[in-house]
Amino acid sequence: AEEEIIRLDRLNLIGEMAASISHEVRNPMTTVKGFLQLLRNKQESKGKEYFDLMIEELDRANSILSEFLSISKNKATMYEWYNINDIVTSTLPLIQADAHNNDKLLTVELNNVPDLQLDIQEIRQLLLNLVRNGFEAMSNGGQLKIRTFSSNSEVTLGVSDEGNGIEQYMLEKLGTPFFTTKEQGTGLGLAVCYGIASRHNGRISVETSPEGTTFYVYFELSK
Ligand code: ADP
Ligand code: MG
Repeated sequence: AEEEIIRLDRLNLIGEMAASISHEVRNPMTTVKGFLQLLRNKQESKGKEYFDLMIEELDRANSILSEFLSISKNKATMYEWYNINDIVTSTLPLIQADAHNNDKLLTVELNNVPDLQLDIQEIRQLLLNLVRNGFEAMSNGGQLKIRTFSSNSEVTLGVSDEGNGIEQYMLEKLGTPFFTTKEQGTGLGLAVCYGIASRHNGRISVETSPEGTTFYVYFELSK
């Protein structure tokens, strides 16, 4: 529990900083991108490649800022009564598109669960971030499983993969912004997930072994 409190403080501080600088940084980036696109069209083919690369990198920086911004606890969260099963179902087309590599199987098991007060955009983002990590963990194929169920006073969302698991020493680093083991990773996906869960008074736990990993997100019923 102690570790969780430290983690939340860290997120709050970073969220506030993110909220105040993201917009300021984005405006000049938009200007630069506009001129890069203009110059790109005047290049020969080799030159175009360099400009495409610069534009891609700028887009990447921009998406890091977006993810960073969504950590912010100051962002207005819009709670409405939803059944999490409906949110999963409406997000499935996106997830199936992610699974385009047909080595990856997807199973979805939605059990009857009571409605909760949720921000649909945030829950979608949470689900997508966990699902993407699951797919990325299964470079050699495997099955990704999304499951909802309720027990005691909670509704649980589970995302399981058949990847190689997470090593013990890395577990405490999960959710720390910029912690990544991927060449193209931002290390922000889980930080965003922890932020979203905490705004919903939820918790996240991880079960992992060399045969795979499951992330559980628990939502309290009384809210
Ligand atoms: P990113 O995906 O950009 O690396 P995340 O915050 O989503 O950032 O994840 C941080 C790190 O946690 C990953 O780089 C990976 O090492 C580890 N991780 C997250 N989910 C899984 C998973 N399902 N299986 C194995 N490792 C994972
Ligand atoms: Mg990720």
